[in-house]
Amino acid sequence: MAIFTKRIMRCNSCGRTIELAADLEQLGFGGIAARAAGLGDWVDAGGNHHLCPECSRPYLAKKAEMERELKLLAGFETVEVDL
Ligand SMILES: [Zn+2]
Repeated sequence: MAIFTKRIMRCNSCGRTIELAADLEQLGFGGIAARAAGLGDWVDAGGNHHLCPECSRPYLAKKAEMERELKLLAGFETVEVDL
């Protein structure tokens, strides 16, 4: 009987999982290997919490909104445009 281990990452919102390569953890979450493995859209929300691409969209939108509000409160007014 063979024993092997797998590394998985689980979305803390919906429970979706994805299998990680054994050496991926050592390269860092935002590394080239992570993008090549299809993890580029996964978000590291800190505190060992991760969000899948579907669950990260509202998180990233709220994060951007909070960053804009913080800049406004700090006295920086910015105008963002899409080119
Ligand atoms: Zn999810």
